[in-house]
Amino acid sequence: MQIIQTIEDVRNYHLCTGCGVCATLESERYEMEDVTSEGMRPRVKDSAPESSGAAFGACPGVRLQHDFNREDGGLIRDLRAAWGPVYEVLEGHASDEELRFSASSGGAASALALYCLERRSMRGVLHTASDPVHPYRNRTVFSRDRADLLAATGSRYAPSSPCAELRQIIDADGECVFIGKPCDVAAVHAAQKSTPGLRDNLGLSIAFFCAGVPSTSASLKLAALQGADSPESIRALRYRGNGWPGVWSLDYETKSKSAQRRTMSYQESWDFLQRHRQWRCYICPDHTGEFADIAVGDPWYREVEPGESGSSLIVVRTRRGQEILDGAIAAGYLKVTGSDVSLLPRSQPNLLSARGSLWARLHTLRLFGAAAPKFSGFALFPFWWRELGFMEKLRSVFGTVKRIYRKRLRHPIEGAP
Ligand SMILES: Cc1cc2nc3c(=O)[nH]c(=O)nc-3n(C[C@H](O)[C@H](O)[C@H](O)COP(=O)(O)OP(=O)(O)OC[C@H]3O[C@@H](n4cnc5c(N)ncnc54)[C@H](O)[C@@H]3O)c2cc1C
Ligand code: SF4
Ligand code: SF4
Repeated sequence: MQIIQTIEDVRNYHLCTGCGVCATLESERYEMEDVTSEGMRPRVKDSAPESSGAAFGACPGVRLQHDFNREDGGLIRDLRAAWGPVYEVLEGHASDEELRFSASSGGAASALALYCLERRSMRGVLHTASDPVHPYRNRTVFSRDRADLLAATGSRYAPSSPCAELRQIIDADGECVFIGKPCDVAAVHAAQKSTPGLRDNLGLSIAFFCAGVPSTSASLKLAALQGADSPESIRALRYRGNGWPGVWSLDYETKSKSAQRRTMSYQESWDFLQRHRQWRCYICPDHTGEFADIAVGDPWYREVEPGESGSSLIVVRTRRGQEILDGAIAAGYLKVTGSDVSLLPRSQPNLLSARGSLWARLHTLRLFGAAAPKFSGFALFPFWWRELGFMEKLRSVFGTVKRIYRKRLRHPIEGAP
């Protein structure tokens, strides 16, 4: 089996999530770059000093470890094994109709962040927006007001490394909000242990549900299929939002300089993009932000009516999250339309079998000598046993064997340093 001991091993043996925390914790050694066929990846800088090991200690690519208090009587016992720590599950949306409309789901993430800025004097929100120069790429932004938040609403199904900019939170003169993928939030959670400034200044962490991140080349391929003949011709790219779930929309310029717009349904575009997810997403145990204070997702337990206004599923995961959520509701930033713990399993039923498959995938990787991360505090075997039928059990093993060879998972990534 591959022994993973350094950030370089994580990157080279297909385990990197692209979070970017290594570029904050060992900033003199690592910087992030977009490897278009894979995702955001750490690169060792020229004349870099030796690694201190700090980055490896917080890297979510290789390790995720739950440390919440299982004896806490406020946690919902029935959800703990499958969904991690949960205090409350709500459905709701931003009261600000403009935020709600432009957001991915119901704008809960942006509304909570706005409440923290305006009512709790938090200094900024570290999150992700489209890159104005290369709209098919992302950049990390530090939003300070409503206009900034509005400009960064909507899911971007493309690589991001918000943890590479954690300095903005560490060096702030007060508390801040962090919004990211579950693996980003897990990285922040782990980095807090070795970084007092991050411990003091992280006022709220919000994760969104995440089925995986497609590479930049996925976006470029889809844009090319829709008519954009080069990356440079792309003027704007949105993946959803401006309605719920909204549409994938591409603005580009033809060689004769005429402006064109193409749209596709969210489902059609996701069906294409998801085929280009990074490998680490296939062995991810946390699709619902188990390390965050609050996690948000789509309430997919029901069909969305055409023209329906956006709605968010809101999962409270810590006492701090509960206190801030209650404050945001009381101050009128968030409207609640339902409260029911069954909304979580009903909205994401496929995740139980995904958790079951994961147990077999990890064991098969180890058996065949490929690298596998370590996950502690996640119940996996019971879901393999209970949720998967006989054929699915077989598929979870043989499908992994096939991928080990097809994706060359036992070998370092081609061109890796
Ligand atoms: C890669 C990806 C996979 C997803 N998979 C699922 C899924 O499996 N199930 C599900 O229910 N929902 C999924 N979503 C959508 C997600 O549920 C919604 O974004 C979430 O409900 C938040 O909606 P909102 O209206 O509260 O967010 P908004 O108020 O619109 O805010 C969205 C926030 O997400 C941040 N953001 C957007 N894209 C990225 C990115 N690539 N990296 C880091 N931060 C980003 C923005 O900066 C913004 O702060 C996914 C989103 C992404 C980006
Ligand atoms: S998962 Fe994050 S910390 Fe680990 S190597 Fe990748 S970018 Fe660095
Ligand atoms: S699926 Fe998991 S590993 Fe992949 S981007 Fe989402 S949270 Fe990170």
